[in-house]
Amino acid sequence: MCGIVAYVGDKQAAPIIIKGLKRLEYRGYDSAGIALLNGKLNVYKKQGKVADLEQVLDGKTLNSTIGIGHTRWATHGEPNDVNAHPHYSGSKNLALIHNGIIENYESLKKELISRGHTFDSDTDSEVLIHLIEDIRDNNDCTLGRAVRLAMQQVIGAYAIVVMDKDAPSQLIAARKGSPLVIGVGKGEFFLASDATPIIEYTNEVVYLDDYEIAVINEGELEVKSHKDVPKTPYIQTLEMELESIEKGGYEHFMLKEIFEQSRSIGDCLRGRIYPKDALIKLGGLRKHGNTIANANRIIIVACGTSWHAGLVAEYIFEELARIPVEVEYASEFRYRNPIINEGDVVFAISQSGETADTLAALELAKKKGAHIYGVCNVVGSSIARLTDAGVYTHAGPEIGVASTKAFTAQVTVLTLIALMIAKKRNSLSDEAIKELSRELESVPEKVAIALENAAEIEKISAVYKDAKNFLYLGRGYNFPVALEGALKLKEISYIHAEGYPAAEMKHGPIALIDEEMPVVVIATRDSSYDKVVSNIQEVKARKGKIIAVVTKGDALIPSMADHVIEVPDTHPVLMPLVSVIPLQFLSYYIAVMRGCNVDQPRNLAKSVTVE
Ligand code: GLU
Repeated sequence: MCGIVAYVGDKQAAPIIIKGLKRLEYRGYDSAGIALLNGKLNVYKKQGKVADLEQVLDGKTLNSTIGIGHTRWATHGEPNDVNAHPHYSGSKNLALIHNGIIENYESLKKELISRGHTFDSDTDSEVLIHLIEDIRDNNDCTLGRAVRLAMQQVIGAYAIVVMDKDAPSQLIAARKGSPLVIGVGKGEFFLASDATPIIEYTNEVVYLDDYEIAVINEGELEVKSHKDVPKTPYIQTLEMELESIEKGGYEHFMLKEIFEQSRSIGDCLRGRIYPKDALIKLGGLRKHGNTIANANRIIIVACGTSWHAGLVAEYIFEELARIPVEVEYASEFRYRNPIINEGDVVFAISQSGETADTLAALELAKKKGAHIYGVCNVVGSSIARLTDAGVYTHAGPEIGVASTKAFTAQVTVLTLIALMIAKKRNSLSDEAIKELSRELESVPEKVAIALENAAEIEKISAVYKDAKNFLYLGRGYNFPVALEGALKLKEISYIHAEGYPAAEMKHGPIALIDEEMPVVVIATRDSSYDKVVSNIQEVKARKGKIIAVVTKGDALIPSMADHVIEVPDTHPVLMPLVSVIPLQFLSYYIAVMRGCNVDQPRNLAKSVTVE
């Protein structure tokens, strides 16, 4: 994963890069580093957060109008000072930052060692800069050409930026498989893994494509393909607001993002839903409605929380649109020779639109003749560009590593798609579409009511903050919500948690239940309510502690549960959008009480751009 930032222009580079790295810290925070040019090419790097790097820089003269910076999520080599980026070339005349994995680094390294190179770090990345320098020296060519030739030898994924001691206004960037955005200012350029470090200075950006090399020199940007074919950079104007990437008074991004959900679901619905006419308008799929509606089946590929959104979608698509749906972990799908028939429809769900496994799964599906679509949050992301078409979730930047508002926005978009297909397939009457659409329109308000439970959930969290395990149970639409609740708790509080379909409990997990075991049951009113009540009894009979999420006004469950959290009633199809809110709060407050770093949980990073 990793975040990379680089600057060249007439401003001081260090403050821009440090601020940018802080914005990208959600991508990795094992170590941070910066290379600046002041007389010589100086690299400063430190294990830990960007704040630790700042301490290293404190008191140093950093005068430089060019620089590259990196915040790391280690894949090769432990997180320590030496393995931190930037990495020097052998002569220390070049420095490089890298996001991705170089799969053939061992053979490249062996070859370079046999040619006299010595390496400081255990990373795959360091090999790249030695290779580039080796090629430059032996071919007596420009750095741009050397980068291009080097990248032709590389197998794997990368976004890199290289700087040269002897070229104070030159940066060279290349990408394949990892994101890279170039901000175009007046006589200055910003490079970063996403646009958040850039938008404060310019909203004109160029997304570098796979197999492209950008050479920025003397205020000019030149883009070429791997094969040296010149490309015209396509400059886009971004509409992101600066406030949307700041904490806005909340203690953590995650809390801010949980509270944003009433608004973000509203944003996601805006202009897309017309209950009076039983109409769903999804601009991104305008020309593709029939293709999707006529598909023999839909395959959804995703990872993590997005996979849970996919599971909710499976239930919704099959119920409303009567199309068979399969939900696949992208990482499994891509390696198991899946059967994909021409005409199959594949949806990829990814907040960042950069998830490496999901991207690769899509590429595979495309190769096999499927129609591929994306549900992404980040505009202009790789998945958005690879797919035939898609729908943006419009949740705004999600910075907290544990996904919250992106999940509800994904479920919202997928519900809209299901309704759109249902109409085309005539699997739902116009009346039913109208009713569901009206109900969908009321979801932001219902989410706002569910958000009012925060203080009460904080109290419940205090009771269970020291638990060693948690079980989450739900049925039907609430089963993926149980999985999502368990994942949230694991991710940020490091408490072991399992999500199960409530009925499956008796096939195994029930053995775990004793008086120490908190069991979160999502028991809102729907067709399986009575069955879930029986499951609650089964837990109580074994002295487990029940935290129940129930529909407002439920009179029965409060008599059995240890704690009850009410959420407003809605159509069962839409319930995940509401019932997930208390689970997000529960994980958040427990993590805070355990002293965990909520926005940057250990070992994780937000946008998983490595396999
Ligand atoms: N493979 C590089 C390293 O471990 C970069 C990792 C990444 O981009 O996540 O340093």
